[in-house]
Formats: sequence, structure tokens, C-alpha cells
Amino acid sequence: MKQLHVVVVGAGPVGVVAAIAAAQKGFKVTLLDSAKEVDHNPRAATTHPSTLEFIDQVGLIDEFIQQGLVARYFQFWDRDTKSRVAQFDHDLLKDETKFPFVVQTEQHKLVLMGLKRLATFPDVTYQFGISVTDLQQSSDHVILKTEQDGEMGQITADYVIGSDGGKSTIRKLLNIEFEGYTWPERFIVLTSIHDFEKSMGCCYRNYFAGSNEWANLFKVTGDDYKGRWRAVFPARTDESDEEALSDESARRRIVELEEACSLDSIVHRNIYNVHQRVAQKFRVGRVMLAGDSSHLNNPIGGLGLNCGIHDAMELVSSLDDIFHGADDTRLDLYEKRRKTLNVQFIQEQTIANKKRLEEKDPNARKQRLDELRKIEFDHVLQKQFLMKSSLLLSVINEKSITL
Ligand SMILES: Cc1cc2nc3c(=O)[nH]c(=O)nc-3n(C[C@H](O)[C@H](O)[C@H](O)COP(=O)(O)OP(=O)(O)OC[C@H]3O[C@@H](n4cnc5c(N)ncnc54)[C@H](O)[C@@H]3O)c2cc1C
Repeated sequence: MKQLHVVVVGAGPVGVVAAIAAAQKGFKVTLLDSAKEVDHNPRAATTHPSTLEFIDQVGLIDEFIQQGLVARYFQFWDRDTKSRVAQFDHDLLKDETKFPFVVQTEQHKLVLMGLKRLATFPDVTYQFGISVTDLQQSSDHVILKTEQDGEMGQITADYVIGSDGGKSTIRKLLNIEFEGYTWPERFIVLTSIHDFEKSMGCCYRNYFAGSNEWANLFKVTGDDYKGRWRAVFPARTDESDEEALSDESARRRIVELEEACSLDSIVHRNIYNVHQRVAQKFRVGRVMLAGDSSHLNNPIGGLGLNCGIHDAMELVSSLDDIFHGADDTRLDLYEKRRKTLNVQFIQEQTIANKKRLEEKDPNARKQRLDELRKIEFDHVLQKQFLMKSSLLLSVINEKSITL
């Protein structure tokens, strides 16, 4: 049987995981990225139990855990009273998964360890600094046009995975609508070396509801492995980027979160737009979308990249089924499964997570926080909550979605 050639456009975490999974199936894999090098900006870190199972399948789990932090718990806090509301324990999932915890490993570390692993396969090549600029397809192949240092080129593939991020060129070339909306407020990330565990009793993942301003707070190891905390806040809709990132605003936000924390402890500042969008289609012919190219969501709950890795694994399974004789409606099933699950699990949960934290009405706010306390003390309810938030339920439901 002829070996399948899969070209993966975009060597972010989704593209790299897809490339390894495809190489494991024995496909010839070409992975291309327009950036000159791996992006080290602070983005995803939270990796849920269901996704750890996939990281295990692609042979990276030991290094992934070793480079990150194991977060058994996550906590909800009330910023108005500076008190902890509830703590949830992933250990309740121990009968459901090999990994009853979250691992906080920065996404660029996943990309770097993934590239190292890809280099061990004989039929894999990867290249940075090369952009895909156009595509044409017929019933049996796809031709990608590329540009590298001003030189034009082309690559022929049996199938193409467009994992080229939220601004995806592949999605645009396929004329696929990116349906949904952009939130009016941007999100600010302040990375601090202050120890919030020591001064406040926070765990590695914390969600702060606030009638004035919500916040999220996570610990990662950092490139120096000394540990740092990422605090995420909403910018005001009338706040300019300059104001949001100024010393004065950064100090106000970080000190209001924890008065023992100082501006000097902040080692990185960033602000970005936040969207809730799902591509109208995940597939046109032999070209498929996966990861941020097909869906975007707010980061509260840490679900976007997790969902993208789930896409990558299902897509490679679909290609493998086709290689072993399935007809190409298997790719329609890929689209149906991943689009349905993104809407049901990712869009729905991240929007609800944001609403829970930003509620201003005192009665509704009290009701939401009381509900969290109730879930903490009822282990049946807590396990149900964790099955959803960890995406283990999404994996179970995936198999029951048929054409
Ligand atoms: C602040 C922040 C915090 C987040 N936290 C979490 C979290 O805790 N958990 C979680 O699950 N998600 C989180 N997310 C979301 C997560 O970062 C994204 O879902 C993730 O990066 C998606 O990976 P990707 O590989 O699909 O796309 P990307 O990481 O965007 O990678 C796309 C790649 O494609 C390349 N590319 C683009 N165009 C072309 C082209 N024409 N040709 C070739 N290459 C191209 C780019 O250079 C890039 O390397 C967070 C996001 C942000 C912004």
C-alpha cells in the first residue's frame, strides 16, 4: 500500500502532536511553520487528564510531567472578601483515568519536546521559516504553495492538516466562516515571581470571582524552573493597551489581588483579544482544520489547547481509518464530532466560567458561589463537574457521535 503523505501546516502544540501521531501511524509527515522559531510567549499551560492520556499516547508524558507542575486541586476564591470559596480534587477521577490530576506545563515546552521526538522518526521532516500561501486540491491530492525567504515553492500532499492558529491562512484559503464573536474586553496577563502559595494559600490553579474585577492565577515552572505565577485580568473596555500594561495599572491589579505582592515581582506583561468562535466547517476535501484554526475560546478553564490536541488525535485516527479502507465520509465524521464537542464542552463551559467569575448582581453572585460550595461537599456532584471540566466526558461522548 502506498504510504500516505500528510502535510501539517503550523508547528504549534496542535500541529506537533498531530505530526507525532501521524508518524506513529507510519505516515510520511511534513511539518511547516512560518515563524523562524518556537513562540515562547506565555499561553496555555493547563493540561487536563483526558489530554494527558493523549500526551502519553504520543510518548511524551514522562518529560511533560517532569517539566511541569502536577496540580491535583483547583480553587475558587471570592475577591470581594479575599476568601476561598471551594476546592475541587481531581483525585475523585482516579477510577476514570490514569492521570487524576492536571499538569501545568507551558505549551512551548510541549512543542520543543515534540520536535525532539519527531526527529526520531525516519519519514518526518519539519521546517521553520516557511509559510503556506496558497492551496489547490483535486480528488486525489493537494498542492500547497510556499514562501521561504522570498523563494516560492510547492509541496504535494495526500492530506493537509491546517493547524495554523486563530488567524489561519488555511481556513481563509478554504473560504470557511469563523462564526462567533469577540469579547469587548481584552485580557491582561501579568507574570510574577511572588509566591502566592506561601502568602495566600493558593494552589497551582485559582479562579477569583470579583464584583469589581475577576482574576485567574496559575503557577508554572518557567524556563528557569524556579516557578512563576500568571495572573489574568480583564481590561476595561475603555482602557488602552498602554494604560492596561502601564506600571500604575499593573501595580494596582497585582496589589489588589495580593497586597504582599509588588510591581517589582512582575517579570512579563501581555494583553490579548479574546474570542468565542467556531469554524463553520472543519474540512474541505482533503484539507482539515484542527486546533485554534477551527475554534477559539476565552482561556478561563484552560480548555482551548486541550480541545485542539483532542482534534489532532481524532483527525489522525480518521486518516488512519481511511488508509485502512474507510471511505472519505470518515472525515465528515471527524468534522461532526469535533465541531459538536467544541460547541457542547468548550464554548459552553468557557462562557459559563467567565459569567460565573464576573457576576456583579449580589444575589446571582451569592447563588453562583453557594453552588460551588455545594459541589465541593457533594462528591457525586464534584465528580460530575470534574468529568466535564477535564474533558473526560467529551472523550466518552465522542464515540457515540455518528454521521
Ligand atoms: C494567554 C493565553 C492563555 C491560554 N491558556 C490556555 C490553557 O491554560 N489551556 C488551554 O488548553 N489553552 C489555553 N490557551 C489557548 C492556547 O494557547 C491555544 O489554544 C493554542 O496555542 C492553540 O495551538 P495551535 O497549535 O492550534 O495554534 P498556535 O499555537 O497558534 O500555532 C499555530 C502555528 O501556525 C503557524 N502558522 C501560522 N500561519 C502559518 C502559515 N501560513 N504557514 C505555516 N505556518 C503558519 C504559526 O507560526 C504557529 O506556530 C491560552 C491562550 C492564551 C492566549
